[in-house]
Amino acid sequence: MFGSNFCNRLAQGAVFLVFGTAAVSSSAAWQATSPASSPAWQRPPAAASAPAPAPITLADILRGAYGPYRVNNDLLSYHLEVRVDPDKQTISGKNSIRFKMLQDGTRIQLDLHSALGVDKILLGTTPLQYVRDSGAVFVDFPETLHSGQEYTIDFYYSGHPLQTARFGGFTFGKDPAGRPWIYSACEDIGASVWWPNKDQWRDEVENMQISVAIPNGLVDVSNGKFLGKTDLGDGYTRWDWLVQYPVNNYDVALNIGNYVHFSDQLGDLPLDFYVLPEDLEKAKKQFAQAKGMIEAYQHYFGEYPFMKDGYKLVEVPYSGMEHQSAVAYGNHFTNGYLGRDWTGVGVSPKFDFIIIHESGHEWFGNAVSAADRSDMWIHEGWTTYLEVLYVEYTFGHEDAQKYVNGYKAKVQNREPIIAERGIAATPPQDMYFKGALFLNTLRSVINDDARWWALIHDFYQHFKYQNIMTEDVVAYFNQQTQLYLTPLFDQYLRHTAIPTLELKFNEADGTLDYRWQADEPDFAMPIRVGKKTDWQIIQATTYWQTMKTPLKKNEFDVATDLYFVNVSKE
Ligand SMILES: [Zn+2]
Repeated sequence: MFGSNFCNRLAQGAVFLVFGTAAVSSSAAWQATSPASSPAWQRPPAAASAPAPAPITLADILRGAYGPYRVNNDLLSYHLEVRVDPDKQTISGKNSIRFKMLQDGTRIQLDLHSALGVDKILLGTTPLQYVRDSGAVFVDFPETLHSGQEYTIDFYYSGHPLQTARFGGFTFGKDPAGRPWIYSACEDIGASVWWPNKDQWRDEVENMQISVAIPNGLVDVSNGKFLGKTDLGDGYTRWDWLVQYPVNNYDVALNIGNYVHFSDQLGDLPLDFYVLPEDLEKAKKQFAQAKGMIEAYQHYFGEYPFMKDGYKLVEVPYSGMEHQSAVAYGNHFTNGYLGRDWTGVGVSPKFDFIIIHESGHEWFGNAVSAADRSDMWIHEGWTTYLEVLYVEYTFGHEDAQKYVNGYKAKVQNREPIIAERGIAATPPQDMYFKGALFLNTLRSVINDDARWWALIHDFYQHFKYQNIMTEDVVAYFNQQTQLYLTPLFDQYLRHTAIPTLELKFNEADGTLDYRWQADEPDFAMPIRVGKKTDWQIIQATTYWQTMKTPLKKNEFDVATDLYFVNVSKE
């Protein structure tokens, strides 16, 4: 995701690991951090180190916690059918929600924004009772639903969806020529701003059908494979799309406009592009970058994750969003970010930031997903690092290092990257830039590029189509490297400050004392120091150690381009 006025806050837990088509609950890391007697939705808010946090509301908890009426079921599929009326600015329809019960129960929690009405909820032909509480809709069943059984309910709704939040929520807009341009972008506020669903991050459906009825002459582009369109005979046409992979709720999108379409192919992968007619020629030139981008990411991580659904770019009036297999694009068909040199070091003007960033989310964010919004760095830190990899693959190592170090100026170090769990809290923007700089640091710690490339490739392959937490990332890296990297991850992700390498020179006897100053007592990180042309690696810890050096204080360098650290010399 990326904002048009630069984001002060951007958004996104579990260990509800999805293996193949069967979701299984695992008692892994996420649960391990919250004692069984005090699950996430009951815990009092943690003491926040962030400046003046907004008070946590019941609505935040209902929205963000993986509460008892969410944990008792596992989503299987959605079929969302909506009719969009541009004149009345209303939507109406239903979502058929298929799920498996994981425990016996008579209640489940779904979500729908209070601006929208619930028309009825049916199990077969049986109307169900429900209770609304802020955005939550608790659905009650007249008889016990049994663990292991699958059920489908039809949730009918209608109303005027809210145009809200940084990305528009659901917007009835007009294109520059005055034609309807209607779109959804709801990562911040949640997908339930425009359709009923289990609005959380941990549990994803395995597949989804999206059917959008719109006035004849308009085009709807949604996620997945285009199945076809049907003239409904009442001035409306229904556009049918099929998502054949797990999908985050907020990635589900409709884009309705006077689009023209052109297509291409990369091997077996269909590439489809939808733009306003007046932008067709510009788009044909600019969108040629999509192929090189996909080739770069496939080089590092493996095959594009949504082959059967294809890859699409869809023009929108906001800057961009990683809607799965239908990436929203609003970067004005120019390189950089909204015409600017994004990291300010002359590299960004070589490529279209929005194509490269938002599409990177197909690998991190969409294929590998965080299970709680608190750990959204798994989306944004990794995807920002993917930009760096794109630059390295396309323009070389030197440009990549310049590019990632250009991000230092954007780091704030005001609060930790990982936010409070279970309240749908949005982590600070450091999750992007500091996240990428941390991963660049980790590459230097591994200090063997062949090893690093294999590690990040295997990490992606291991967790693709799953929803994970930071603990899963750390455990994987520890296990694969046989290094104890936990304090390193924790320092960069769970504390505000980056580590400082303290150097005390004793020039008279040609020695130097060094240690890390860090919040993590066990923090230890090797780092390259000395002469740039001939680095030497010291194994610094939080305890003072002494080394010999012929270099004077002002000649002694630290490889701060390769490690995101502070250095203090005295
Ligand atoms: Zn993003």
